[in-house]
Amino acid sequence: MLQQVPDGLFIAGQWRGASSGATFDVHDPATGHLLRTVASATPQDGVAALDAAVGAAADWAATAPRVRSEILRSAFDLLRRRREDFALLITLEMGKPLAEARAEVDYGGEFLRWFAEEAVRIAGRYGSTPEGRGRMLVTHHPVGPCYLITPWNFPLAMATRKIAPALAAGCTVVVKPAELTPLTTLLLATLLQQAGVPAGVVNIIPTAAAAVVSAPILADPRLRKLSFTGSTPVGQALLRQAADTVLRTSMELGGNAPFLVFEDADIDQAVTGAMAAKFRNSGEACTAANRFLVHRSVARDFTERIAERVAALQVGRGTLPGVSIGPLIDARAVTKVDSLVRNAIARHATVLVGGRPRPGPGSFYEPTVLTQVPDDSDVLAQEIFGPVVAVTVFDDEDEAVRLANATESGLAAYVWTKDLARVQRMIDRLETGMLGVNVGVLSNAAAPFGGIKRSGLGREGGPEGIAEYLTTKYTMTPEP
Ligand code: ADP
Repeated sequence: MLQQVPDGLFIAGQWRGASSGATFDVHDPATGHLLRTVASATPQDGVAALDAAVGAAADWAATAPRVRSEILRSAFDLLRRRREDFALLITLEMGKPLAEARAEVDYGGEFLRWFAEEAVRIAGRYGSTPEGRGRMLVTHHPVGPCYLITPWNFPLAMATRKIAPALAAGCTVVVKPAELTPLTTLLLATLLQQAGVPAGVVNIIPTAAAAVVSAPILADPRLRKLSFTGSTPVGQALLRQAADTVLRTSMELGGNAPFLVFEDADIDQAVTGAMAAKFRNSGEACTAANRFLVHRSVARDFTERIAERVAALQVGRGTLPGVSIGPLIDARAVTKVDSLVRNAIARHATVLVGGRPRPGPGSFYEPTVLTQVPDDSDVLAQEIFGPVVAVTVFDDEDEAVRLANATESGLAAYVWTKDLARVQRMIDRLETGMLGVNVGVLSNAAAPFGGIKRSGLGREGGPEGIAEYLTTKYTMTPEP
């Protein structure tokens, strides 16, 4: 399987090594074993990839929307046929259990299908000006060459969520996958080529030197758009660079999702939802429930039930049957999660389950439940990105909302209640880009994914997702 994965840079439809000959290693986080050594792009290679994207831009923008659509649709069909290959590769390089990797292939594929459908629906408007002296025509055009930077937690879906709307809109792209998980994107390149994506329309530059390779691309006035998914500090640094060329940006940054369980919730369902919201991807998702805020009257019941479920989770290599929690992405991630847990314990939080790294090879952390977590704990302030449930208690709705909003993040929130009026109040009052009501998983290719506050700018998915790659032009003509 790994032999099918290219190990080069994909520029102008060709596979090549780095101009310096540099390479870097990709490891399996479950074992620490080397999976593959791939070319590491230099700044010159990055600019060569942008040259290719710029060179292909005019033809691709002029390609009929129906043709762009059918290429994306064909990529969707090919991906569906190669579901097992992609799932295995995701599990190998990222660690998630195979069942979740298959779900990622399905989810990632949906962006190809959805934007294949959107490519032929790019519309404008036409009308008279209010005072009746002219006609106005509003049209949408591809923004131009785009730079797409993706994270390691969903190696396929984060790539298709950016590439598909860009291509549907008529844009060409340079993709820089995360250095921890470049293999899935490289395999995706072969599939896109097979689907008929012309040379130069998609270029892929894995690199171990993200910052130095990205800088000249971002500074180049031919680049017209940056779409980034990753941590808030890196997003902020990129926004500063984008200021120099007034670059269009879409930013999907960190989250700190509250998971609110009200006194009238169905606790059984809330526990099941909590398991999905917390433990999908071992908690390595920006939409992962980060703070469990539970009404005092149901806190004990909720916590006991979730502790029982967490204690039964099987941790191990994602390729093994029955495993539902894979490794974290690397040793650094384990250290970070553990320091958050240690900080909470030092503040007198109680550990009900887990609370430690798992010894042995691979970067595993025990699924953990903490209760009585004090408000000033780091585990509530920071994005955990690991399998840790942190429970705190509230007494009324106002307090719940105040705690939920007490963060600079505003990506996702989850609410469990049977009270419709309360749901409507939560829609108004929670500072979030996405809200799950009595559901534990929100993401959908047809819906606008994104956050407010420091969680980012722009939306991915849905009709909003293609708009990020289009500019708006207004034309005035005289009234005939
Ligand atoms: P994480 O901390 O979860 O690894 P990052 O924000 O560091 O998230 O990484 C997300 C993506 O951003 C990766 O593809 C990474 O290579 C890239 N990246 C990190 N730092 C920079 C930078 N200074 N310039 C451009 N890309 C970067």
